[in-house]
Amino acid sequence: MTAVIDPIRDRAGLERKLATTSYHVDPGRPHIRIIDPDVCLQCQRKQCVNCCPAACYTLQPDGHVLFSYEGCVECGTCRIVCYEFHNIEWHYPRGGFGVQYRYG
Ligand code: SF4
Repeated sequence: MTAVIDPIRDRAGLERKLATTSYHVDPGRPHIRIIDPDVCLQCQRKQCVNCCPAACYTLQPDGHVLFSYEGCVECGTCRIVCYEFHNIEWHYPRGGFGVQYRYG
């Protein structure tokens, strides 16, 4: 019997898809920012960590969330899921920077 891989939870499959993109990082100018890192300590669900397809958010042992914008695919998910505390400032990168999709 062949194991069925859930495409949503198939991290290796997601990594393969992310590998088809390229990034033009704008050094020192993140387009997304956690407004107040201490507010994340009140958040039980940590939806940014759970929902970001590019794993840009990492939960730290002390409950804070570390964000790194370099691999962001600009999907906007984190902007939507942080609806309880509205603790994410989000805008697109400057023109010429950010993700570049090679297959549309
Ligand atoms: Fe992750 Fe999408 Fe937010 Fe970028 S916009 S950090 S890829 S959830």
